[in-house]
Amino acid sequence: MEKLAIEGGYPVRSGKIYYGRQWITEEDIDAVRSVLESDFITCGPKVEELERGLCEYTGAKHAVVVNSGTSALHCACIAAGVGPGDEVITTPITFAASANCAFYCGARPVFADIDPETYTIDPESIEAHITERTKAVVAVDYTGQAVKVREIREICDRHGLVFIEDAAHSIGTSYDGKKVGSLADMTCFSFHPVKTVTGGEGGAVTTNNDDLYKKLVLAHTHGITHDEALMEDAPHEGRWVYEQISLGYNYRMTDFQAALITSQMKRLSFFSERRKEIVNRYNEAFAGLPEIIVQKEIPESDTTRHLYVIRLNKELLKCSRAQFFEAMTAENVVPQVHYVPVYWFPYYRSKGYEKGLCPVAEEIYSGIMSIPLYPKMEDTDVDDTIHAIRKVVENYRKA
Ligand SMILES: *Cc1c(COP(=O)(O)O)cnc(C)c1O
Repeated sequence: MEKLAIEGGYPVRSGKIYYGRQWITEEDIDAVRSVLESDFITCGPKVEELERGLCEYTGAKHAVVVNSGTSALHCACIAAGVGPGDEVITTPITFAASANCAFYCGARPVFADIDPETYTIDPESIEAHITERTKAVVAVDYTGQAVKVREIREICDRHGLVFIEDAAHSIGTSYDGKKVGSLADMTCFSFHPVKTVTGGEGGAVTTNNDDLYKKLVLAHTHGITHDEALMEDAPHEGRWVYEQISLGYNYRMTDFQAALITSQMKRLSFFSERRKEIVNRYNEAFAGLPEIIVQKEIPESDTTRHLYVIRLNKELLKCSRAQFFEAMTAENVVPQVHYVPVYWFPYYRSKGYEKGLCPVAEEIYSGIMSIPLYPKMEDTDVDDTIHAIRKVVENYRKA
């Protein structure tokens, strides 16, 4: 057996690799440079081009581009009419923004439990948490796998709820042959550098609904409109007239970020294929390793995986998750954990949330970690990751 690096042995590789990273090419840089040298570095044609491109790619009728995935979620909640006294149902195994968006609107996030095999929100648990105050569901395509869209759509329709899909992980994924972005009432994307397509920062909301679209546009730019059809005070004095008709924010994206994202979108199908290739190699490697449990996928989801999450089979291993994590880090294959249940955080505690709300989510959380997955990984990086996991498993295997 190979001696673990954490116990003084040689690490499987000399340079560290991490769970995710961006891939920027010369073409991307040229796209940004040409915007910086142009007349409009914000509120210009590149933002519109990206909005059109997202509609074309996802099949959605409308897209509103914003400055982060978090802003996208906030705008979606505003457009959904979420307000004080309302409740928004989401999953605890997500980035905090999926739940914070409810608080931004004066509403309360409510946590439904997850499916123990797919780790995405469990539709039955959504249904069990609906009250007369529930306004919307924020369902997260965790790791890139589409949520159970059909079941969630049916529940939202039956209870008159707005279905918001947090697709920060899932650009490129399809459900039943339809691209994520065209499925829910509103779909929120993120272009943070760890995500599949990046603009440094950035986000977008897509929708097929004209009314929601108008509200999204207002929310991301101060509630100000230049559209006379929307103005309340007529007649107008001249062409300079605009009106603020609701309270919005400045959540606009710059044109150079939009150009970077449009340039990256050209390689999305390549990114998807490479991610799928790596996922398949991991799946094959771990199929013969009962100590490692892999995430299950629903057949409807054709997934562009953002994260590869392994779950330790605690019955077969004598180490803790933390020991496994440290041993992997010492091998220079640095994992991360996605995510600490959101309601465990001190802020949430201060709002009255307690541990134990979602037992399945807490149990899954206690055994998971994300291993490197990004298109720029070389095959040797994939080999090193598999090697490190095998090595750590062999050293910590029971009996
Ligand atoms: C990254 C992420 C967000 C927030 O996106 P930002 O662009 O970082 O604001 C929201 N939800 C999930 C699930 C995410 O992973």
